[in-house]
Amino acid sequence: MKAIVVGGGIGGLAAAVSLRRVGWEVQVLERASAFGEIGAGVGVMPNALRALEWMGLADEVRRLGTPRVSGGVRASDGRWLVHLPDVGQEKVIAMHRADLHGVLLRALPSEILFNDVEVTGVEELDADLVVAADGINSRLRGVLLPDAPGPVYAGATAWRGVAPGPYDLPISQTLGPGGEAGILPLGDGRVCWYVAAVAPAAADLDPLELFAGWHEPLPSLLRSTPDVLRHDIYELPLLPTFVSGRVALLGDAAHAMTPYLGQGACMALEDAVTLAVCNGDLARYDALRRPRTQTVWKGSRMAGKFGIEVRSPIASALRDFAFRALPPTLAVRGMTRFSAWEVPDQVHSNGSNPPVN
Ligand SMILES: Cc1cc2nc3c(=O)[nH]c(=O)nc-3n(C[C@H](O)[C@H](O)[C@H](O)COP(=O)(O)OP(=O)(O)OC[C@H]3O[C@@H](n4cnc5c(N)ncnc54)[C@H](O)[C@@H]3O)c2cc1C
Repeated sequence: MKAIVVGGGIGGLAAAVSLRRVGWEVQVLERASAFGEIGAGVGVMPNALRALEWMGLADEVRRLGTPRVSGGVRASDGRWLVHLPDVGQEKVIAMHRADLHGVLLRALPSEILFNDVEVTGVEELDADLVVAADGINSRLRGVLLPDAPGPVYAGATAWRGVAPGPYDLPISQTLGPGGEAGILPLGDGRVCWYVAAVAPAAADLDPLELFAGWHEPLPSLLRSTPDVLRHDIYELPLLPTFVSGRVALLGDAAHAMTPYLGQGACMALEDAVTLAVCNGDLARYDALRRPRTQTVWKGSRMAGKFGIEVRSPIASALRDFAFRALPPTLAVRGMTRFSAWEVPDQVHSNGSNPPVN
């Protein structure tokens, strides 16, 4: 069986690795002139690590990333609202996005990777399965589901970067009125960070000014970062299906979500493994992936409502109070609830389909 994967981001490459593991012949078509990944950090959550384990790449990810467990949520003045000691929760692997992308890329033979190929339709693609992993502005989604609405501005803009350091910091998220920030320390002393603020799309804003009064080391991290990336945050309204004929949507093309749970790329990794174990049964892929990703999509939106979208200082103080009153076990459960995912059973070529849970 032959699959063509459109898009060579984290989702597309993970799909290629996974499909090859169950015996498919795969080609990856990428419109950029080279396979690569910009961006800053990514937290590989336990669910994503299980997907990578199935792909045979978890050891490489553990080797390049930094397992982190302590940390928690802080207020903009630096007070800990939830401080998680090591109470048995699973670790998050902090790594640079380019490193995760590199692990996937190295797992694929170069002769199946084609760059400078912009795919505009599916008719010309000679394959039993087409994987549309062409990102939030997916061209193929527009062809397959012409009535589905496109991405919508989520009301906030984000800046990301990697500060040279060296720093020795815990992993943390900071919430303040109308903004939030995240710190993901890498093992070599560099620190991946992001800050996000409620703002109109494409607003002319200086993050150094916006976050000047927030706790250290946030202002120092921003100041010392040579290349800062800016992204307005968009989300994709929920789709009625992820499949059409021999085409499956995967990753941001299917379910781009706000970044407040740090699960977007993790979902793409889950999608990839699920598509492979479904072994061409796209109805099953849709039945397994749509409910799961749409639950996380809604969770991420909710996290935004109680996080970045709380704009008044009074409401923000009330939120901080509620956080501090949470028993640690509840706080841990709240933070890890979307990490409970296991690789589904494989569909075998004799047609025996395991049930959809
Ligand atoms: C500010 C921010 C912070 C984030 N933080 C996290 C985090 O901490 N953890 C996490 O898990 N996720 C995070 N995410 C989400 C994550 O970045 C995405 O979910 C993930 O990168 C999606 O991967 P993808 O492969 O589906 O899409 P993409 O990475 O967008 O890849 C799509 C690929 O398809 C190619 N392409 C597009 N159109 C065509 C075409 N017509 N023909 C051929 N090729 C094409 C593109 O060039 C690109 O290489 C964050 C997102 C943002 C915006």
